[in-house]
Amino acid sequence: MTSSAASSSSAALVLFSGGQDSSVCLAWALQRFERVETVGFDYGQRHHVEMTARLKLREGLIAAFPEWARRIGQDHVLDLKGFGAVAESALTADREIALREGALPTTFVPGRNLVFLVYAAALADRRDIDVLVGGMGEADYSGYPDCRQSTLDAQVKALTLGIERPYRLETPLMLLDKAGIWALSHELGGEALVRLIVEESHTCYRGDRSHLHPWGYGCGDCPACDLRAKGYDAWRAAS
Ligand code: ZN
Repeated sequence: MTSSAASSSSAALVLFSGGQDSSVCLAWALQRFERVETVGFDYGQRHHVEMTARLKLREGLIAAFPEWARRIGQDHVLDLKGFGAVAESALTADREIALREGALPTTFVPGRNLVFLVYAAALADRRDIDVLVGGMGEADYSGYPDCRQSTLDAQVKALTLGIERPYRLETPLMLLDKAGIWALSHELGGEALVRLIVEESHTCYRGDRSHLHPWGYGCGDCPACDLRAKGYDAWRAAS
């Protein structure tokens, strides 16, 4: 899965939020594609730390990995605050973060990945790019319905028809749990990449950047910190 060189002469656009998952996706793409551009979405997140994290991550990759620095291209930030206002959730409004039995967590933003893909595809068309890369996964995500393979396949089909461009969506994390994602980081860029992701990528739902743990910054007890910490411990214990 990580050894393909078939697409090395082409380009990819990575949906890059500055979180752990999309940071690993960016490294994955840089290993495979000659030109890699990044896109981030400002949809009125409560915590703007993500937007800072994505810039630091890119700078860190450029500084530590000369081969990747040659391939990394433009960064784009698209304003989706209008969408954020429509699709309020705990991430965009001041609501309590909770995992409710039998229901979607309040951190679910309805339609988010679908909207991101529409904007990414429109941008990719302008940039003459067919391949989109996203960190969606089915393993760890509390059943977010827009992370499912079947949802993503349907959306890519709609985009291919509607924009008349042969899009391909790569989701290298689809079947990996958080321990597997840490393992993939190490496989792609060794301890240097793991350290960069620990120090600069952001996951915490509460936007905490003041407490540094072995697995990164965060409050330590929100669902996102919990997943990230448990995955890190499981990966270190197994490696
Ligand atoms: Zn947290």
